[in-house]
Amino acid sequence: MKPAPFDYVRCANVAEAIAALAGEEGAKVIAGGQSLVPLMAMRLARPTLLVDVNDVGLDGITVEGDVVRVGACTRHRRLERDPVIARAAPLLREAAGLIGYPAIRTRGTIGGSLAHADPVAELPTVLLAAGGSVVVRSAAGTRVIEAADLFTGFLGTTLEHEEIIEDVLLPVAGPRHGSSFCEWSPREGDFATAGVALAIERDDDGRCRALGAAACGIASVPLDCSTLMASALGETSASGAVLRQIARVMRAELGGDTDRADLVGLLAARAVHRAFARSDVPGEAAA
Ligand SMILES: Cc1cc2nc3c(=O)[nH]c(=O)nc-3n(C[C@H](O)[C@H](O)[C@H](O)COP(=O)(O)OP(=O)(O)OC[C@H]3O[C@@H](n4cnc5c(N)ncnc54)[C@H](O)[C@@H]3O)c2cc1C
Repeated sequence: MKPAPFDYVRCANVAEAIAALAGEEGAKVIAGGQSLVPLMAMRLARPTLLVDVNDVGLDGITVEGDVVRVGACTRHRRLERDPVIARAAPLLREAAGLIGYPAIRTRGTIGGSLAHADPVAELPTVLLAAGGSVVVRSAAGTRVIEAADLFTGFLGTTLEHEEIIEDVLLPVAGPRHGSSFCEWSPREGDFATAGVALAIERDDDGRCRALGAAACGIASVPLDCSTLMASALGETSASGAVLRQIARVMRAELGGDTDRADLVGLLAARAVHRAFARSDVPGEAAA
């Protein structure tokens, strides 16, 4: 099948892109095209105008105090390889490397992934686990949407038609940060069946003082699992007792005896084990 007819505009700046969106009800932003174009080819999406944002200056990575700012058009491949991301947001780096395969990651963007809001996608899950947010712009100005307020359902977000994601904000990893994205997919490169993103911070005594976790593949939106995995708080290691407790609670709370809940329980335990191992030595989080 071929896409329905559409017009195309390549914008030079964000204001131009916002004006193009505002001018046509059927307009849609296109960034990497890795989700939108397949939907168009299947005629599940029929935008009348594609507003290309690849030249509007939305790629880049900066650290501002305790926040990492990632431009919306930053490619997954760059997130995988960038040394600043490796140090300041290692969970994002690991998750980006799990998306599809290199050809997809070379085109796909972080803003596109978050706006597309696929319930099995890695990056929305990372945003929720890390307690991140997005900066969005429209003709009315900018606003910040916290991860917990962004995803509304299957491929649904609280973004308005004329809003463009400009930046993604994530907290900078602390000196004893540990993180892990554990997922399972039937074949390497396929979308995951389910996954768990976890980020922990340990204090000077090695105790886990903060924990953020989210799971994909079990609901129409990524699910915040921080409370379900809270038994790791205060621990100095990922003991067998803690891992068993977390797997049991996740299984019980996420759907009883189903295979998927079992899988998520196992992935959660594995994520805890890896996050503790990666934060055992101060400064080793990105290793
Ligand atoms: C074979 C294949 C395998 C894949 N495997 C995975 C996988 O394992 N995990 C995974 O997470 N993804 C996977 N993807 C999807 C891929 O990650 C996409 O890159 C991503 O979902 C969308 O990013 P994009 O830049 O391509 O967005 P586009 O396709 O250009 O756009 C997607 C949506 O986001 C909107 N949008 C884009 N940018 C913005 C912006 N700045 N502001 C507002 N709205 C915006 C568009 O209007 C559109 O609705 C796969 C894709 C393919 C084709």
